[in-house]
Amino acid sequence: MELVTSWGRLGRWPHEVEPLTDRGSSAQLIQSKKPGLAYGLGRSYGDVCLNPGGWLWRTSALDRFISFNPQTGLLACEAGVLLRDIQRLFIPRGWMLPVTPGTQLVTVGGAIANDVHGKNHHVRGTFGEHVRRLTLVRTEGEILECGPNLRPDWFSATVGGLGLTGLILTAELQLLPTPGPWIDCEVIPYTGLVEFFELSEESGAAWEYTMSWFDCLYGKGGRGIFFRGNLRKNGFRADPQLHERSLPLTPPVSLVNRLTLRPFNTLYFNLQKKHSGPQVVHYQSFFYPLDNLLEWNRMYGPRGFYQYQSVVPPDTARDSLEAMLSEIARSGEGSFLAVLKGFGGQKPVGMLSFPRPGVTLALDFPNKGVRTLKLFERLDKIVAQAGGCIYPAKDARMPPEMFRAGYPGLQEFLPYRDPGISSALSRRLIGS
Ligand SMILES: Cc1cc2nc3c(=O)[nH]c(=O)nc-3n(C[C@H](O)[C@H](O)[C@H](O)COP(=O)(O)OP(=O)(O)OC[C@H]3O[C@@H](n4cnc5c(N)ncnc54)[C@H](O)[C@@H]3O)c2cc1C
Repeated sequence: MELVTSWGRLGRWPHEVEPLTDRGSSAQLIQSKKPGLAYGLGRSYGDVCLNPGGWLWRTSALDRFISFNPQTGLLACEAGVLLRDIQRLFIPRGWMLPVTPGTQLVTVGGAIANDVHGKNHHVRGTFGEHVRRLTLVRTEGEILECGPNLRPDWFSATVGGLGLTGLILTAELQLLPTPGPWIDCEVIPYTGLVEFFELSEESGAAWEYTMSWFDCLYGKGGRGIFFRGNLRKNGFRADPQLHERSLPLTPPVSLVNRLTLRPFNTLYFNLQKKHSGPQVVHYQSFFYPLDNLLEWNRMYGPRGFYQYQSVVPPDTARDSLEAMLSEIARSGEGSFLAVLKGFGGQKPVGMLSFPRPGVTLALDFPNKGVRTLKLFERLDKIVAQAGGCIYPAKDARMPPEMFRAGYPGLQEFLPYRDPGISSALSRRLIGS
C-alpha cells in the first residue's frame, strides 16, 4: 500500500498502486486489479482522483506520442502524455493546445476526464471539444473507440466522466495553429464587480483569453486585475529563461492566514498595477504562472487546503457573486487565489461537464476544519439558489444533493459507468 494524496493535500490515504506502462498490458491489468481508478498526475484538488483502500492505475508512464499530421494538426497520443510535453514539442512547430488549464502539469486523460477549461472558454469551449477520438478500455476487457461522430453517447459520458466510464488509453487531439509562443496581453486594474462585468463584456469578442484575479478582502466592493490576451501574430523573440523553483518543505502551519493574506493581496495588486497596460508575455508565464513555483500547495501547511470553484448563470451572476464575496469577507476566511472568469454559451460536450454559461469563481482556502466547512455550506446555499453548481475536479466535500441538482445529466450518465471503477468522490456523491 502506498499513501497517495491529491493537490489539496487534505490527507494521505493508502492505495494499491499499479503503474500502467504500455497499451498492450493495460487492458489486462485493469481487469485483474479492481475496483480501481485511473490516476494521472493528481492535480485535482479533492477526491475525484482517489480511491482509498483500493487500486489506483497510475497512467504517467503511458506517455507516448503515436502520430502527428503537420498539415492538419491532428495529434494521437497515449493518455498519460503531459500537456506540458505537447506544448513544448509542438509550439515551436506552429501548433498548440486549443484549450489548457492553469497548469500544464496535467495528463491528457485527466484533462478529458474532468473536461477542463482555460482562459478562452468563451471562444473555444472545453478540452473535450477538441478531442476527435479516444480509446476507452473497460474493466470487463471491452475496448471501445468513440468520438463526437462515433458512439457519441460513450464519448459524451467519458468527456467530463470523472474517470468512471473506463480507462482512457489513447486520444486524438485537434491542435490549433499558432504563430509562436508569445501572447499580446493587457493587464487592467479595476474596482468592484460592475467593472469586472464591463471588462468581460467589452473583451469577449476581441480577446481570445480573459480572466481576472480578485482581491476579496479589499472593502468597497473588492478590486481586481483583469488579464486579456491574444496570440501574437508576428515578431521573433528569443525564448525567455524560465526558472522552475520548488517550495522545498511543508511549513508547520499555513503561510496563508489572517496575518499574511491582506499584505499578500495588496502587494500582488500593487505589483500588477505598476506593470499594467499592454505587454508581450511568453505563453508559459501567461497560461501557467503558478507552475513557476512547483509544489506551492505545500504553503498551506500539513492540513492542506480546499478550492471552492462554482459557476453561476449569467442572469443571477452579479447578485450571487456579490453575496458570495461578502459572505467570504464577513467570515475573514479570505482567499489569495481568487479567480473570476466568464464562461461562453457553448453546449457542454460531456454529460457531466462543469462549464456552462455564466461566471465561475474559484477560491483557495486553508483547511481550518469545521469553520471552513461551515463557510462552504453558506456559499453552497447562494450557488444552489442561483441555479449554479460546483466543479468536481476541485471538490472534496459538496453534498450529494448539490451534485444531483447541479448535474442534471447524471441519470443519463449512470448506465455508462464501469462497475469495476470507483472513486472516493463517486462513493460520496453517487453512493458507489
Ligand atoms: C495549479 C492548478 C491550476 C488548475 N487550473 C485549472 C483550470 O484553469 N481549469 C480546469 O478545468 N482545471 C484546472 N485545474 C484542475 C486540473 O486541470 C484537473 O484536475 C485535471 O483533471 C488534473 O489532471 P491529472 O492528469 O492530474 O488527473 P488526476 O487529477 O490524477 O485525475 C483527474 C480525473 O481524471 C481521471 N483520469 C486520469 N487519467 C485518466 C485516464 N487515462 N482514463 C480515465 N480517467 C482518467 C481520474 O480518475 C480522475 O477522475 C488546475 C489544477 C491545478 C493544480
